[in-house]
Amino acid sequence: MSDKLVNILLVEDDEVDVMNVKRAFKKNNITNPLNVCNNGFEALQFLRGESEIPLLEIPKIILLDINMPKMGGIEFLSEIRKDEKLKNISVFIMTTSNEDKDKLDAYNLNVAGYILKPLSMERFIEAVSTLNNYWKLCEFPEN
Ligand SMILES: [Mg+2]
Repeated sequence: MSDKLVNILLVEDDEVDVMNVKRAFKKNNITNPLNVCNNGFEALQFLRGESEIPLLEIPKIILLDINMPKMGGIEFLSEIRKDEKLKNISVFIMTTSNEDKDKLDAYNLNVAGYILKPLSMERFIEAVSTLNNYWKLCEFPEN
């Protein structure tokens, strides 16, 4: 197992949800570099190096909301899956959408998992801890 911490991108429009993810990272002592984009459009720009936030490294993991303005999670996912440089990123959906269509679309676009919110803060911290254990266990290509 390599000791290098992988970069993570959170794509989420809700400020409270962003804070909850940061809080859960802190509680679990997760120190991976974390970038936040507020919708799919911003995230695409960031991943393509077209955003004001410099892209130091393509993230290995994306935590993705579904319902967002400008570009939602499913549309974003279909865009990155068509992109040679971005198509292999592991994506975990974190959403309040319990729609079967969203789950089907997400898994058809090869998500690594689909997590339904809301969870209590305690359960959410646990869920993030599980994700952390999972991506710590996994090997990722250098680039
Ligand atoms: Mg949201």
